[in-house]
Amino acid sequence: MVEERADVLVIGSGAAGAAVTKRLTDLGAKVVCLEQGDWVKPQDYPSIRPDWEVALRRGAFHWNPNVRRRPEDYPTTSGGENPPTVMMFNGVGGSTIHWSGAFQRLVPSDFRAKSLDGVADDWPIRYRDLEPYYNLNDREMGVSGLTGDPANPPRPKRPTAPLPLGLLGEKIARGFNKLGWRWWVLDNAIISENYDGRPACQLHGKCSLGCPIGSKASTDVTYWPKALRKGAVLLTHARVSQITVDSKGRARGALYYDGSGNLHEQLARVVVLCANGVGTPRLLLNSKSQLFPNGLANSSGMVGKCLMLHAIRHLVGLFEEPLDGHIGPFGHPILSQEFYETDPGRGFARGYSLLFNRTFGPLDYAWGGLTVHPLPWGAEHHGAMRKCFPRAIPMGILGEDLPEEHNRVELDPEVRDSNGIPAPRVIYTRGENSLKMLAHATLTARQVLEAAGAIEIRERAPSSTAAHLMGTARMGNNQKNSVVNAWNQAHDVKNLFIVDGSSLTTSGAANPTSSIGALALRCADGIWRRRHEWD
Ligand SMILES: Cc1cc2nc3c(=O)[nH]c(=O)nc-3n(C[C@H](O)[C@H](O)[C@H](O)COP(=O)(O)OP(=O)(O)OC[C@H]3O[C@@H](n4cnc5c(N)ncnc54)[C@H](O)[C@@H]3O)c2cc1C
Ligand code: SF4
Repeated sequence: MVEERADVLVIGSGAAGAAVTKRLTDLGAKVVCLEQGDWVKPQDYPSIRPDWEVALRRGAFHWNPNVRRRPEDYPTTSGGENPPTVMMFNGVGGSTIHWSGAFQRLVPSDFRAKSLDGVADDWPIRYRDLEPYYNLNDREMGVSGLTGDPANPPRPKRPTAPLPLGLLGEKIARGFNKLGWRWWVLDNAIISENYDGRPACQLHGKCSLGCPIGSKASTDVTYWPKALRKGAVLLTHARVSQITVDSKGRARGALYYDGSGNLHEQLARVVVLCANGVGTPRLLLNSKSQLFPNGLANSSGMVGKCLMLHAIRHLVGLFEEPLDGHIGPFGHPILSQEFYETDPGRGFARGYSLLFNRTFGPLDYAWGGLTVHPLPWGAEHHGAMRKCFPRAIPMGILGEDLPEEHNRVELDPEVRDSNGIPAPRVIYTRGENSLKMLAHATLTARQVLEAAGAIEIRERAPSSTAAHLMGTARMGNNQKNSVVNAWNQAHDVKNLFIVDGSSLTTSGAANPTSSIGALALRCADGIWRRRHEWD
C-alpha cells in the first residue's frame, strides 16, 4: 500500500530521529517517522522491581538485542580480532531508553584531528558550528551540571543544578586533587530539579534499565511528546526494509513492514535516516537498485566503514569504608580530561577521559560483575559480601577510537531478521593507537584510585561491549572518503540526509549522544533552509 506523501520521512525514533522530527515539525514541516519498535510503558521497566539486577543479565530489557530477542529486535553478528557485543534498544526513544545519560560534548580540537595531530580526518564543521545546537539540545533534553569548567568552552547555565556527588564522588575528587589533576562535574541528561513537566531524579539508581519517572532524558519523554502535540506522525512497528529511489536517483520514500508483516511504501520529499551506527549502514547496504548497485549513497564505498566504538576499560578500587555507589543515578558524576589532548611524549595520538561510575547492587558484587571476582557461595558468602559491599568505586576509561576502514558494518550473508531482511555483521579489531592509549590510561586510573585510598585495585579486560556506534556514514567534504557533507546531506542523493552516530567523522573521547542530538538539530535547520529545493 502506498501512503500519502510527507514533507520529510524520518527513519528511527532514537536520539537523532526524535530531535530532527521535533525541530522540523516546529518549523512547519509535515513529518512522518517510522520506528520498528513500540512505546515502552514506564511501569514495565524492571528498575522498579526487586529483581532488577536479574534483568541486567536476562529478559526483555537486556542491553544486548541478541539476548533480549523482542519481536522488533534484529540480530547482529560480529567478527574481527575483537568481535563486539552490540548493545542498543529498538523502540520509541531508541537506545536512550537504556543509556546512562552522560552528556559530554566534543571539544574544539576533536574537529581538527588531522590538522593538529596528523591522524583521522578533520570534520567539515567546527565546534562553533555545533555550539548553538549543543545548547538547544541541552534545553530540550534537560541537563544537570555546573558551568565554569576551564577545560571546555564556556556554556550557558545548566538547566538544572548538578546531581549530588555522593560519598563516592567526594572520595574520588580528593584523589584527583591530591594528584593535581583537573576534574569537573560531568553534565548528565538527568534532571536534578523538576523541569519542563518532568520530575527531579529520585536518586534510586537503576537508570540503565529505563527511568520509571522520566527524570532521565530518553527521547520518548523529552522530544516525542512535544513533537506529537505539534502534529508529527510516529508509526510504530514499522520496520523499513529499503529506501526507494526514483528514475532520477532521488529518494522517493521507504518500504516498510507493519506489525502484521504487510508491506507499505511511505513517500516523502526528503528522507532522513536515523537508525544508528549499525542500523543505518545496514539499511543503506540493503537499499540496492539499478542506479545504486553497491547500496544507497555508497559511491565512495565508505558506507559501513570506519566504525568507531571508543577504547573502553574499567578498573575498580575497593575501599575500607562503606560508600554509596549503589545509590544515585548510574552514570558518571565526575569527569577528568587531564589526558584528553595529544601529548607526543605518550606514544599515541589524541587522548582519553577518565570517568568514574556508580555501581549496581549486591547481586552484581556476588556475580563479580563490576568488581571482577565472584564471591564464594555457602558459609563464606556473607563474610565476603560484608568485606566488599558497598565499598567499590569503578573507574572508566573512555578513549578516542581512530577511524580505520577495516572496522566495519556489512551485511551478514546468512542471518536475517523476522521479516527476512539481511542482518548486520559488525567487524572490529582494536587499533595500535587504542592499545597504547589503554595501557597508559590503566596506569593513570590506578594512580587516581590509589590517591583516593583504595586498598585493592582490580582490572577488567578492555570492554567488548559496543554501545557507542559511530562513523559508518561519515561526514566530510571529500566525496571519495565520506558519505555525507557538512549538513548531513548524502553526497550521492540530494534529498537524503543521514544523521545519527554513523555521521561522526571522529569519535573524540566523549560519550557521543550530546553531539548526535546537536548534529540532528543542525541537520533539521539545514533541511528547512533548503525547502525551496523540495519538489
Ligand atoms: C547501556 C547503554 C548505555 C549508554 N550510555 C550512554 C551515555 O551515558 N552517554 C552517551 O552519550 N551515550 C550512551 N549510550 C549510547 C546512546 O544510547 C546512543 O549513542 C544513542 O542513543 C544513539 O542515537 P541514534 O539516534 O544514533 O540511535 P538510537 O538511539 O539507537 O535510535 C535508532 C532507532 O532506529 C530504529 N531503527 C533501526 N533500524 C530501523 C529500521 N530498519 N526501521 C525502523 N526503525 C529502525 C531503532 O529501532 C531505534 O529506535 C548508551 C547506550 C547503551 C546501550
Ligand atoms: S536514579 Fe534518577 S534518573 Fe536514574 S532511574 Fe532513578 S529517578 Fe531515574
